[in-house]
Amino acid sequence: MKIAGIIVAAGSGTRLGAQRNKVLLPLLGQPIFIHAVRALRAQCDELILVTRADEAAEFEGLLKAHHLVVDKMVPGGTERRFSVENALMEVQEDIDIVLVHDGARPLASPAMIERVIHAAAKSGAAVPAIPVRDTLRRQMDGVTETVSREGLYQVQTPQGFQAGLIRRAYQNSDESASDDAGLVERLGHPVLLVAGDARNLKITHQEDILMAQQLLNASIQMGMGIDAHRLVEGRDLVLGGVTIPHAKGLLGHSDADAALHALMDALLGACALGDIGQHFPDTDAQFKGANSLFLLRETRKIMAAQGFVPHQCDITILAQKPRLAPYLPQMRAHIAGALQLPLAQVSVKATTTEGLDAVGREEGIFAQAIALVYNLAESSI
Ligand code: MG
Repeated sequence: MKIAGIIVAAGSGTRLGAQRNKVLLPLLGQPIFIHAVRALRAQCDELILVTRADEAAEFEGLLKAHHLVVDKMVPGGTERRFSVENALMEVQEDIDIVLVHDGARPLASPAMIERVIHAAAKSGAAVPAIPVRDTLRRQMDGVTETVSREGLYQVQTPQGFQAGLIRRAYQNSDESASDDAGLVERLGHPVLLVAGDARNLKITHQEDILMAQQLLNASIQMGMGIDAHRLVEGRDLVLGGVTIPHAKGLLGHSDADAALHALMDALLGACALGDIGQHFPDTDAQFKGANSLFLLRETRKIMAAQGFVPHQCDITILAQKPRLAPYLPQMRAHIAGALQLPLAQVSVKATTTEGLDAVGREEGIFAQAIALVYNLAESSI
């Protein structure tokens, strides 16, 4: 089953009182739409981002800085429906399910997205929704009355559709609808509700950013990792994904990149998901000589499947020789790329031990790392 995601980010910030598009405002140091792109990227074979044409370059720059890739950028229309329509025309022929997501919803959990995909595959159209919780009152001509909330739901995104159905829905209607499910309904096709997530809020007003910030802050978990490898002749020295010219290299089953191994253990530790030995055992022939940058990308995917997102990391490499300072910027760049983080959230440092201990005697190289992750898993509530 092939999935396409359409992220609509062509709105403006008028309701938020911001001078600029609200999805460009920062949430925990990253633009709101970046969180939305990251949430869908993992589960989509094709990802299309709809932005205003005059903002496309800014969005592209931000995607690059966060090491995220979308397959297509599409200009938005004057109304939401035109934006989605433009994107639908770009969806590949062989796509089975189309997800349409608001760029202003940064906290969609992988489990919820999964529910939408499965329900849409089965029934044709599915939307995540949560029951209305507050008592509702209607005000008409100065008189107010209670409205029953029985059977009423608040609808969220991503909304999921069989590709043929959503295409037909747009072809058959010229009218506006506040969501895509509304257009599908007009074809006479039922729309299935799946459990939404109260945290999956849409950033509309200033206080929504504060709430999203609090939710993410409260979900942060921390982990640490330590690794050591022996220096031997006849091996490449690989640290932080960079091959460094030196008379000796680190001995190990994989490329023995102690810096990345410490980092992976810190990331997995932050998620309480075990350690690298458990996920990439050195008894397994497929990891012989493995490139640890590849393993780091795999680690991010393992985390993502459980709802965890890397937020920040700091590594210290302990090596008497060689001098590592010239290589640190490249290590940071490699790590930021593998973890889809901006450079500012990745730190790599190096120190000697002033000739003390095994590191000082140049018998080996040690590395320590700490990492912060946030947790979008539903079980974290
Ligand atoms: Mg190791």
